[in-house]
Amino acid sequence: MKKKILITDRFAQDSFLYLHQHSQFEVVRSDHPQHLPLEHLVSAHALLIRSRTKIDEELLKKARQLQLIITCTSGFDHIDLEATQKWGVTVMHTPSANIESAAQLTWALVLNCVNNIHQGHKMVKAGDWQRDLITGIELSGRTYGIVGLGRIGSRVAQIAQAFGMNVVAYDPYQDDEVFERLKIPRLSYEEVLKTADVLSFHVPKTLETEHMLNRSQFEYLHRGIVLINTSRGSIINENDLCEALEKGWLRSVGLDVYEKEPLSRNSNLLSYNNVVLTPHIGANTEDAFFKASQVAANKLMAFFID
Ligand code: NAD
Repeated sequence: MKKKILITDRFAQDSFLYLHQHSQFEVVRSDHPQHLPLEHLVSAHALLIRSRTKIDEELLKKARQLQLIITCTSGFDHIDLEATQKWGVTVMHTPSANIESAAQLTWALVLNCVNNIHQGHKMVKAGDWQRDLITGIELSGRTYGIVGLGRIGSRVAQIAQAFGMNVVAYDPYQDDEVFERLKIPRLSYEEVLKTADVLSFHVPKTLETEHMLNRSQFEYLHRGIVLINTSRGSIINENDLCEALEKGWLRSVGLDVYEKEPLSRNSNLLSYNNVVLTPHIGANTEDAFFKASQVAANKLMAFFID
């Protein structure tokens, strides 16, 4: 019997054809990542998804044939892992596909923040040439603090070193070998917060990381710090962030992720000139998209055929 594969979101055409041409698979595409077609869901053996498809117990109850879910993302937080375990469904992801893109967006935000590119852009477009109003800082010799020295954090660290920055990191779960190989001192969370001139977060969304940057931690930060978050919005308490911005404690902030997405048009974050916002596009490069689809197709092939 053929295995039915339901693709619920964007998926590279080459990888689609690779699976479609295989005699063991029936591949169906749905254009509605949030509303999967029941007629296919009930008979699907595998789902290929991205973060717009939320996997919960209700969905799993309907998908009686389901054996495998592959999410073409790094994070798993759109999937109820307890429920998939209960229903005996294997879950895989494609974390290696996004590393370069997410690290690059982190750096796009850092450079935008330190050189005030967004403000300069706005001024030039408005015919305003007050160059003296746009000043930045040099990165070389300053300290870059990384929270979460995993795949993306490590790549961000290497780029910081190429800029001549001193990199320090906090990651209680990472092996000493990684810190040693990257020549990065292992500091406590508090020490990283206190020493960083630029600080970025690269941790997963867990109970432990929820609001790990809140009012009490803002107290520790260097005044005039540049703060970047491209991991998950729940890591930073946005109300406390706005409070710190009101007090003028932060030079600038770059965010790709938010406590609630899409970001509300009423969010206070929209009102600051020194906050640069992008709509969760860390993995949105053509290259990451192709790599993620390819890795997912290979994993699926290995699961059912090899
Ligand atoms: P990873 O698993 O390779 O690295 C995460 C690191 O965080 C690990 O080394 C882990 O030990 C560490 N960690 C876990 N809990 C921690 C804690 N409480 N304090 C400090 N460190 C802790 O993951 P990754 O592939 O590097 O991804 C990092 C984050 O980036 C994830 O949240 C992922 O969802 C997010 N991400 C976002 C985008 C985007 O579009 N903006 C794209 C890709 C990944």
